[in-house]
Amino acid sequence: MLSIKKLPKKISIPLLSFGVISLGVFMFDLSFSSQYNKNNTTQIKEKVQQSEQFNGKKFENIGQIAPKTELWATLKMYLFEKEKPSSPSAPIEVLPITKAQLIELQQNHQQEGLLFFRLGHSTLLILLDGEFWLTDPVFSKRASPFQFIGPKRFHETPIDIKDLPNIKGVILSHNHYDHLDKVAIKQLNNKVEHFYTPLGVGEDLVKWGVNRDKISQLDWWESVEVNGVSLTATPSQHFSGRALSDGNKTLWSSWAVKGKQGSFFFSGDSGYFDKFKEIGDRLGPFDISFMETGAYNRMWSEIHMYPAQSAQAHLDVKAKYMAPIHNGTFDLSLHTWTDPFEQISEVAKQKNIHLITPKMGEVTKLSELENKTFKQWWANSK
Ligand SMILES: [Zn+2]
Ligand SMILES: [Zn+2]
Repeated sequence: MLSIKKLPKKISIPLLSFGVISLGVFMFDLSFSSQYNKNNTTQIKEKVQQSEQFNGKKFENIGQIAPKTELWATLKMYLFEKEKPSSPSAPIEVLPITKAQLIELQQNHQQEGLLFFRLGHSTLLILLDGEFWLTDPVFSKRASPFQFIGPKRFHETPIDIKDLPNIKGVILSHNHYDHLDKVAIKQLNNKVEHFYTPLGVGEDLVKWGVNRDKISQLDWWESVEVNGVSLTATPSQHFSGRALSDGNKTLWSSWAVKGKQGSFFFSGDSGYFDKFKEIGDRLGPFDISFMETGAYNRMWSEIHMYPAQSAQAHLDVKAKYMAPIHNGTFDLSLHTWTDPFEQISEVAKQKNIHLITPKMGEVTKLSELENKTFKQWWANSK
């Protein structure tokens, strides 16, 4: 059975409004898709109105945290400060995943324990307590509303949606195109039991054909329990929008997931902020942190982390192993495509962090991590 409960709040911080920015063409959607439908979303609308993150018009970050809106400066940076190589010079080694392999792992889940595959960017396929979970499933060629323009993926996905087994739950962090892929959601729908989203994001899913009963839309610190696995939507410092008119109309979040066989923290997208510490205090420790490590820049340092901050966030949430995500698939910033891996490897060494950097498609089992070494696979395609 599925039940939602709200974790007790420790403190209430005043929320202040901030401006909205749209970074690049990939965040525009001409369908203006996130407007609420008054007839069948009353419940969600009420929940949105009651959210501490909602100011009556839009969702807000905690404090006066506003992404910069200097469009001209951003454009100038893209023209003159773009570092090379921004994409791999040789194909990235991707290990294909087969349906048979997944079924076998699932059948032996009691011995295998918690395991995961990186499918790309922030897309993870995770086996926990015998069920498969997907985070931010993006399978399209481009993280964009259009398939002829916008950030193009560096590599094929290790498995097609049609070959995936049944998925217990899809966990979504926010509605940006590199995290919420409309085509993928539609194709996944029939094999997914349930979708877990921050407040408001589920409305797009409904519009795309997902049954409302299959969606839980959570506010920060709300928890859902499903067959002994608890999922808590936790704060992040970011923003949302897929169109010109829907800036911050839906919430963004990170997720804390705990099962019998293990636990993980999924950062979604976030700038560094003190809530990581609170997440660690209230919900940690975790076995693995899937931590945003990529797409950083001084222009948007409030809403994306530098690698050293990602490392700190990992320590704050109290995770044992750190898996850097949000890298290796799309070129979304000005740094080279290998910079996140190189920087986080260096920082991890200094801070004594147990870093795990599997190839796309490589099976990664929690029970083997203590002694497993990971190759710097990105160096082969630099
Ligand atoms: Zn984002
Ligand atoms: Zn992102």
